[in-house]
Amino acid sequence: MNFDLSGDQQAIQDLCREFARDVVAPQAEALDREAEFPYAIVRQMAGLGLFGLPFPEKYGGAGADTVSYALAVMELARIDASVAITLAAHVSLGASPFYLFGTEAQKAEYLVPLARGEQLWGFGLTEPGAGSDAGATQTRAELRAGQWVINGTKAFITNSGTDLTGGTTITAVTGTDAAGRSEISNIIVPQATPGFTRSKKYNKMGWRASDTRELSFADAAVPEGNLLGVRGRGLKQFLQILDGGRISVAALSVGLAWGAYDEALKYAKARIAFGQPIAKFQAIQFKLADMRMEIEHARVMVMKAAWEKDEGRDFALTASLAKLYSGEVSRRVVNEAVQIHGGYGFMDEYPVSRMYRDQKINEIGEGTNEIQRLVIARLMGL
Ligand SMILES: Cc1cc2nc3c(=O)[nH]c(=O)nc-3n(C[C@H](O)[C@H](O)[C@H](O)COP(=O)(O)OP(=O)(O)OC[C@H]3O[C@@H](n4cnc5c(N)ncnc54)[C@H](O)[C@@H]3O)c2cc1C
Repeated sequence: MNFDLSGDQQAIQDLCREFARDVVAPQAEALDREAEFPYAIVRQMAGLGLFGLPFPEKYGGAGADTVSYALAVMELARIDASVAITLAAHVSLGASPFYLFGTEAQKAEYLVPLARGEQLWGFGLTEPGAGSDAGATQTRAELRAGQWVINGTKAFITNSGTDLTGGTTITAVTGTDAAGRSEISNIIVPQATPGFTRSKKYNKMGWRASDTRELSFADAAVPEGNLLGVRGRGLKQFLQILDGGRISVAALSVGLAWGAYDEALKYAKARIAFGQPIAKFQAIQFKLADMRMEIEHARVMVMKAAWEKDEGRDFALTASLAKLYSGEVSRRVVNEAVQIHGGYGFMDEYPVSRMYRDQKINEIGEGTNEIQRLVIARLMGL
């Protein structure tokens, strides 16, 4: 077994580490405070090819593997989770449905500009009354005279309302099956569609610089050809997308925990109490040792899930295990990082304060901890 990164994987990790340190870190606190979308950073990331990292070059991507992509998300999250989720949601949720389920024409029209980072794209699964219970979708799309006419509301959709956003792919009820159950399909809804509106950005506890909005559809009509994948398989297709998304959120959680550990280690060496650096106290050393142990464990799980995906194996169980474990590790590690900072950790000037707020969503987004446990139990055959 070889745990070394390949030359290409190492190069992407180094590139993202330097970019996060030199470009993102100096802006992170202000972007969070102002809840300002990081347009300049996103444009630079597009220039580096990050938005198309795991897609083939013929679709505008960089042709890298999932391990490289997970490393990129980790390095960005180590500094700024808002920037990391902007990339992760775009790649795993926005662009991947076109790659996995699009026709060649749809790939040319939608995937290519997304992989080049010229546009962002949303993934519209959640509704005000349908989150964990995603099959309870109320949004409807009726086929009338060659057009899907959409009515309904989507909640909490990332990257859905920036100046760079080209549209959102949604789940909608398109009929009922033979057993009388809702038939759910995926429909591509470009931003300029009349009747499709976005709310103002939510005012969020964390991921404040990222873009999250409610979407409304009032007789929003798109061509029949905007069906993505197979009619009636929309929920299954989106759940398959979420398997990959879990690797992203797991990488994001590991990166966030790692960043908090970096800050805590630095602080513990510098802060003097009772005449010596607090890093000399065994109580602090043990906290740092535990943080390091948990991060290492979570990181190996994320790498394994990404590797399984790259090998074409069934990665759903490992991805769910990694997502659940990494989310919980990020909570414990960030909490201890603030503790090591004492009162200063409660102050906004210290990154651990922002990291503490950014952490919570790791245990909620793309399947809550409770839903991960259900998924894992199901995959264990229970
Ligand atoms: C910042 C942010 C960004 C997001 N981005 C996107 C996006 O881009 N696209 C998108 O589609 N969605 C997005 N979401 C939505 C996110 O995926 C949902 O919030 C999440 O899946 C939980 O759904 P819910 O909020 O409706 O909670 P609910 O499903 O109402 O859950 C409430 C509580 O009940 C528990 N619960 C529910 N069912 C069960 C059960 N069967 N057994 C045990 N416990 C249960 C949950 O675990 C949770 O603790 C985003 C959310 C946020 C906050």
